[in-house]
Amino acid sequence: MAATRRPGRNHLFIPGPTTIPDRVIRAMSVQSEDHRSPSFPELAKPLFQDAKMVYGTTDGTILLYPSSGTGIWESALTNTLCRGDKVVAARFGQFSHLWVDMAQRLGLDVIVQDEEWGTGADPEKIGEALRADKDHAIKAVMVVHNETATGVTSDIGAVRKAMDAAGHPALLFVDGISSIGSLPFKMDEWKVDCAVAGSQKGFMLPAGLGLLCVSQKALKVAEGGQGGSNDRLGHVYFAWADQPNANKGGYFPYTPALPLLYGLKEALTVMKEEGMENIYHRHHVLAEATRQAVAAWGLKPCAKEPKWNSDTVTAIVVPEGVDAAKIISHAYERYNLSLGAGLSKVAGKVFRIGHLGDLNELSLLGAIAGAEMAMIDCGMKVTPGSGVAAASSYLRENPLHKA
Ligand code: PLP
Repeated sequence: MAATRRPGRNHLFIPGPTTIPDRVIRAMSVQSEDHRSPSFPELAKPLFQDAKMVYGTTDGTILLYPSSGTGIWESALTNTLCRGDKVVAARFGQFSHLWVDMAQRLGLDVIVQDEEWGTGADPEKIGEALRADKDHAIKAVMVVHNETATGVTSDIGAVRKAMDAAGHPALLFVDGISSIGSLPFKMDEWKVDCAVAGSQKGFMLPAGLGLLCVSQKALKVAEGGQGGSNDRLGHVYFAWADQPNANKGGYFPYTPALPLLYGLKEALTVMKEEGMENIYHRHHVLAEATRQAVAAWGLKPCAKEPKWNSDTVTAIVVPEGVDAAKIISHAYERYNLSLGAGLSKVAGKVFRIGHLGDLNELSLLGAIAGAEMAMIDCGMKVTPGSGVAAASSYLRENPLHKA
């Protein structure tokens, strides 16, 4: 009789949710508490301060919602914009597509800048649109920092430079759901107005806690409007105006998801102990090792040029005639390895290895070995051991942390 138990751990290599450190799991195993008690702010208040380190901000304000990242997208748009407002949005993958779709369904007038999938936002084009907008009808620029569907990272610093060069006051909204906590993020330096994150990726938590960081400028706009149509987009649960008491007083205007707050506290401690620079370096080394494996397999990433390579996820293009979905299901069934699927336009054409969150050399090598075995089992011409050899050589030469 076939065994029903799958021994060993599932190797979770989708690009989020990511593996949760054991100490974070333990920290979340708590009894319910009175979230109006006098002692509750001792837990809640420091989180708003400590999370700033992950965003690279001292000026920003952190807002927390029991929500996935999608809700935080909506919070950013609805608190700052009016029906019919013009926004510029770069679209180059499934997540940038979905954010555009949300903006359109909310009633915004979205100037969509389509880029080839495998590339990212074009700062030149964004600057051009802003320069042409003499009467400042455009109220915001929306960019997905790390397009999880294709494994592409856009240059937010360059987008900011283009906005400044155009002398345009539009707000800058950045989706950092698969970058914040893993890739360098410079909220203050890049003058990001709304930076959107979710708990299940770089923060190494379960899904369910949305983290938004907003600039002083965005807060002012939310208070007073931007002089648009004045037909403010509806928002109640996500109203920032109801949040200051959480930030300052440590009490939320809703029932908080307590275990996630304890988890966030521990995850931030874990991050502080490793240090953000070390975290960024580790992600770079693990991503590069993955790319070495991909090259050794004779395959290419979906990212069209090295400058687009993401250090949190690699989408690997399979040859014509191969169904990437079969490799993913085989890897899961046979080796208990979870790989990311190709989404929308690249469904069946790519599989993704997520290399973000709490992982090290040997956990990554397990995923590379499993992907390699699954590809060979599915009939692809890949030299056994080639990806593991290339990645392990690279990893031996390149420590995860700088000395
Ligand atoms: N944006 C990006 C870049 C993502 O990777 C995801 C999810 O993977 C989302 C948005 C949607 O976030 P959520 O699934 O947390 O609502």
